[in-house]
Amino acid sequence: MLLIESRGNDGLRAKSVDFSEAILTPIASFGGIYCPAALPELGQEFLKNQLTESYQSLALALIELFDIDIEPGVLQQAVSLYDRFDDAENPVPLIKLRENLYVSELYHGPTRAFKDIALQPFGVILSSLAQQRNQQYLVLVATSGDTGPAALETFKDRDNIRVACLYPDGGTSDVQRLQMVTECAHNLKTIGIEGNFDDTQTALKSMLGSPSFKQQLKAAGVCLSAANSVNFGRLLFQIIYHVHAYLELVRQQAISLGDKVYLIVPSGNFGNALGAYYARKMGLPVERIVISSNANNVLTDLINSGRYDIAGKSLITTTSPAMDILKSSNVERLLFDLFGQQRTRDLMQQLDLHGGYQLEVDEITRIQAIFAADYCLDDEGKNYIRQAFDDGYLMDPHTATCLKSWESLCSNSLATVVYSTAEWTKFSPVIDAAITGNVGSSDLQALESIARAANIDIPGVISALFDKPICHKSVIDKSDIEKEVIRFVS
Ligand SMILES: *Cc1c(COP(=O)(O)O)cnc(C)c1O
Repeated sequence: MLLIESRGNDGLRAKSVDFSEAILTPIASFGGIYCPAALPELGQEFLKNQLTESYQSLALALIELFDIDIEPGVLQQAVSLYDRFDDAENPVPLIKLRENLYVSELYHGPTRAFKDIALQPFGVILSSLAQQRNQQYLVLVATSGDTGPAALETFKDRDNIRVACLYPDGGTSDVQRLQMVTECAHNLKTIGIEGNFDDTQTALKSMLGSPSFKQQLKAAGVCLSAANSVNFGRLLFQIIYHVHAYLELVRQQAISLGDKVYLIVPSGNFGNALGAYYARKMGLPVERIVISSNANNVLTDLINSGRYDIAGKSLITTTSPAMDILKSSNVERLLFDLFGQQRTRDLMQQLDLHGGYQLEVDEITRIQAIFAADYCLDDEGKNYIRQAFDDGYLMDPHTATCLKSWESLCSNSLATVVYSTAEWTKFSPVIDAAITGNVGSSDLQALESIARAANIDIPGVISALFDKPICHKSVIDKSDIEKEVIRFVS
């Protein structure tokens, strides 16, 4: 498989690159990103054959269709990490919630959020490429909560990779912070930043653009890579579970092979939704991909009116913080795939210069043939959490936004999959408030309260966090980050 650049070629770089190059150096000409030049076809025969296979076999078979330049042994090892999910036989369970409504639980990995699904295998691949090239890589991560723990977990003790993870001190949940500051390994460094997530991300970007930083890295013999959600190496693993969810519907006799379904995706940076788009384009029978947002509803506007507009908007803090995003980076890959390089370059330039763009009518029509969208405010979400609990299901606030879209956009006659992106343990105060009415609880109080109300145990990996030694104690001003990171790598 070859990857090409979303915004065209500047004449300085290669016009197309292999998979390994795209994941080691993810930024392309004119600030664009790498996209598949073409996608393989699944075909009914493939789907039928996979009905009797495991998740791991499906993953390997799908990746084989992409024909990427990674050795089979490395891919095998990458996919074998799904054996460490709660149930190795069924790492991504599909649970029936109501008639024709199913939840695909993407959070059964080590850090209890869906980021593990892609980052676990990605860690193996990046580390093996770094070893083959005999190079040391620094992976910089700025996180609002879920990516940090998943990146630290996947790279810990891996050769030739070091991770510096920046989080906004006070801007994450207790559980998320503890997951990061108790993850101890010689190649990991977690740094709290005084400020919010925007400050953290801006600090990271300015460091990436700093000549002195690059020079010092070079002197230390270290290359830079990135594990953020625009890295195509993560996206590849986000196609698999959409195909898997479909096969599960067939296995559970909710549909017959070939029937169309709705997929509802709680979206932020649009990686999960783009995986669904690729799966549909490869031939998965999907009626519509439904995009769910919170009050930061830029994606709802884009899909319903063709207008992407962040100029007059500021970020709203919600109870589904992993979706508090205005610049949704993977939308660029959709624009590229539908409208081509030149148009994508124009649109992204308008976004950079004017804070938005307006699509043409025929472009909107094409998007609406594939996608639908709605958004859900925090109070509405709380009600959906409560309703799900009354039906015997614990649901996190990101997943809950999908129930609004299900009611407003999906015909009851088709089977629907809602993707659940986090375990209840990661956002417990919000869930506690929804189901017991307690407000202002700490994470630990909320975890205990929910466990009592639902008559379940707090998972061991979460309760253990509160007693683990803290090995990353630095909380620093953003002006000191560069120094701190250089000290870590040299
Ligand atoms: C990352 C994340 C999302 C958003 O996923 P995208 O692929 O960025 O759209 C939603 N929910 C949770 C819990 C997440 O961690």
